[in-house]
Amino acid sequence: MQYVSTRGEAPELGFEGVLLTGLARDGGLYVPKTWPQLSNEEFRALRGKPYAEVAFAICRKFTQGSVPEENLKAMIYDAYSTFSHPAVTPLKQLDSNHWLLELFHGPTLAFKDVAMQLLVRLMDWSLARQSRRFVVVGATSGDTGGAAIEAFQHSTQTSLFILHPHGLVSEVQRRQMTTVKGPDIHNIAVQGNFDDCQTIVKALFNDLNFRDQVNLASVNSINWARIMAQIVYYVYSAVALGAPDRMVSFSVPTGNFGDIFAGLVAKRMGVPIDRLVIATNVNDILDRALKTSRYEIHGVQSSISPSMDIQISSNFERLLYLAYGSNAAVVRSLMAGLAQSGSFTIAPGELAAIRQEFDSFTVDEAETANTIARTLSATGELLDPHTAVGFAAARRAKPTESPMVTLATAHPAKFPDAVKAATGITPHLPSRLIHLLKAEERFTILPNSAASVRDYILSRNKA
Ligand SMILES: *Cc1c(COP(=O)(O)O)cnc(C)c1O
Repeated sequence: MQYVSTRGEAPELGFEGVLLTGLARDGGLYVPKTWPQLSNEEFRALRGKPYAEVAFAICRKFTQGSVPEENLKAMIYDAYSTFSHPAVTPLKQLDSNHWLLELFHGPTLAFKDVAMQLLVRLMDWSLARQSRRFVVVGATSGDTGGAAIEAFQHSTQTSLFILHPHGLVSEVQRRQMTTVKGPDIHNIAVQGNFDDCQTIVKALFNDLNFRDQVNLASVNSINWARIMAQIVYYVYSAVALGAPDRMVSFSVPTGNFGDIFAGLVAKRMGVPIDRLVIATNVNDILDRALKTSRYEIHGVQSSISPSMDIQISSNFERLLYLAYGSNAAVVRSLMAGLAQSGSFTIAPGELAAIRQEFDSFTVDEAETANTIARTLSATGELLDPHTAVGFAAARRAKPTESPMVTLATAHPAKFPDAVKAATGITPHLPSRLIHLLKAEERFTILPNSAASVRDYILSRNKA
């Protein structure tokens, strides 16, 4: 399997190259050159199979020619043994046609664990066999950082630097990052918002001297391996609900567009997906873009679903590349417009094509809180605020005959204040995480500047 950059001016790479590259050298994101297909027979053969078996069937298509199958299989089985539910990502039925796909049974209680547990194993395997060491960076709106630190704390081949927006993540999210004591785990609190953190990470990658000097890789969803791992639960849940013989719809709480892009890939691989619902909080750039054709950055607002407080939605670039028929020159010019003026316009034909596959809704703060309260009284289920955004959007989507699956992206105990304000109930942390609340924290506050982060990495890097 070969991969190309959305901006068309970086070298074509195999899976291992993409895994260790992060942002392409032309500033673009890597996408597979062709979409691997699963036949209806292959889908049917996955019915009733364990999660890891489904993951292997999907990932082998993307890693062919790079990772030997027996190594891949061992890494997948090891990665998903860290989950506390035997189904890894269980489905829960909430009413006659609406299901929750619980993605929060991993070590840090958010869906980011699903990809991160596999990513670290793939990176360590690849680097060990080349006897190399890498610096891995990540920007986090709250959950990626904790999942990465948990996964990379025992990494033998990497130093990890995580940037979070100072003061803008929940206490549980912050403590999941700052209390983990790995010798090569570094927490940076940036005096800015998540978009600032992500912009710094991209600036580090675009500093070609620096990236070559330290060997830079990424844990953000600019890394294709993360998207790959997230395709799996779309397939797993669709097959459980009757695919390929029945259509399924998904509602996805969205920030950086990574998770829902994985859903689109599942569709391209042959999963019969009816609707893909983009659910945003008050940071509604994606919903506005679909409704008005203008992708236009407004200021980021803090919300009770902080992991989606994002305006610069990285993976939207991958969607544009597909919508414009792999025309990298158009993507380059749209992205140049974004960098220059903070906006671009999607052409009518391409917008119509995007709207044929996606619905989009903005769910404000009051509706999010009401959804948590009403779902609790109607079903007994306590939703986290991100999941509530997805749930509310699913309710607003045009009714379909296909089952509607809302992705439950985090456990309510990660956001106890918002859940308590909505319901009066304080969700309790699972006992294996209680120690976090007392453990000593370690982090460094840095100004909102790529240069200070670069200097900090150079001063701490042991590679
Ligand atoms: C990261 C995150 C999201 C958004 O996912 P994207 O891939 O950035 O769209 C939604 N909910 C939770 C809980 C998250 O941590």
